[in-house]
Amino acid sequence: MRLSPEFRESYSEQGTEDGALVDRIFRTCQVVHVWRCHTVHQGFFYRCPQSYFIHRGRKVKPEESGDGLEIRDDGEFAQDLYRHLTSPRGPAACRWGLGSAGRRFAHEQVSQRQWTTPGNRPTEALLDPKLLETLENPTGTYHAKTDLTTDILPEGWTRPRTRTGRRTVGTPNPPTGEASPG
Ligand code: SF4
Repeated sequence: MRLSPEFRESYSEQGTEDGALVDRIFRTCQVVHVWRCHTVHQGFFYRCPQSYFIHRGRKVKPEESGDGLEIRDDGEFAQDLYRHLTSPRGPAACRWGLGSAGRRFAHEQVSQRQWTTPGNRPTEALLDPKLLETLENPTGTYHAKTDLTTDILPEGWTRPRTRTGRRTVGTPNPPTGEASPG
């Protein structure tokens, strides 16, 4: 089993108007390009879970967002799926997504009513710009994961919860060059 050793912000409630930044986040997004966390829901295929859930959170029907591909049983579908998966244009949800370059935060459980509060900031405030640069570097080592059979559990997994139970927004990121794999 291989697990991620840390938690990072995954999306912003406010998003960004910076199209160039959205493009950088999509192009470096490990969720869709490396981990292949594709999602199927009610007959539609989504390139990533966020391109389904972000729309739902914004009270938009995901199947009407344009981010999903309706699954069909015909001879054209395989080609359509290939085009969908390899499109250089990211899902519309990327405007609110942080891909795999969100800021790191300490692992803890929060109440259902509070879980969106820390993410209610613009994309720029929730992004780890140094990690984004690292992800843009093809020689980076960001694909690495923790192997539970051989690796030591990261400190963040065993850190006790804070007394308030609140998660720390913007927990300092590791110094340059020490960005942990995500
Ligand atoms: S919405 Fe965009 S940035 Fe977020 S996981 Fe999907 S492809 Fe990546």
